[in-house]
Amino acid sequence: MTARTDAEGYVLTPPAQATLSVAGTAELFPVHRVYCVGRNYAAHAVEMGHDPDKEPPFFFQKNPDNLVADASEFPYPKASQDVHHEIELLVALKSGGEDIAVEDALDCVYGYGVSLDMTRRDLQSEMKKLGRPWEIGKAFEMSAPSGAIMPVSQVGHPDDGDIWLKINDEVKQSGNLNQMIWKTPEMISILSRLFTLQAGDVILTGTPSGVGPVTRGDRLHGHVAGVGDLHVTVS
Ligand code: MN
Repeated sequence: MTARTDAEGYVLTPPAQATLSVAGTAELFPVHRVYCVGRNYAAHAVEMGHDPDKEPPFFFQKNPDNLVADASEFPYPKASQDVHHEIELLVALKSGGEDIAVEDALDCVYGYGVSLDMTRRDLQSEMKKLGRPWEIGKAFEMSAPSGAIMPVSQVGHPDDGDIWLKINDEVKQSGNLNQMIWKTPEMISILSRLFTLQAGDVILTGTPSGVGPVTRGDRLHGHVAGVGDLHVTVS
């Protein structure tokens, strides 16, 4: 007789579903994919050595299980000596599709959150130089500490308001959501022409200027007006 396991029908125990918490409920938001937008604030594009003109947006992905729900700690990752903070607005989708029109795109949004796109900048820079993919710089374990999602029913669709990050009470990044080169509906529409978007997909919408390194013991405090705060200690 073959022993039965809890994971009946699978050769291995299936991996846990990646989730984010939702403010005001014990129910969880199940994460499908994590799309990230590069250089979506002009001042950040300039600080990274690029032209801030409205070029087509570009995307990379993190792994769903790189998200850390209700994160309070960010363990300094292996293989890097230059880990940077990027504070970002997270968009969580409740529906998707292909070729979504800009004017229909916000109907797909379940809610918004505050997230950090933590980046092993030294590895990313090396990959950029070599024209190689960014995954080793971006898609590592626990690389996206995130707060609870605020449903649209509570916060609407924030597109104007402060977004900032402090380290040990000192402001490091500061911008406004209205400085996003590609707005949330445009990003959803463009992504839907490249991929089939699905309920559970999330989008990290880019970071304002002021990115820089973190060190162990740093207290990071991220804020997006109308959405919330995220407090994470680097351990
Ligand atoms: Mn980013």
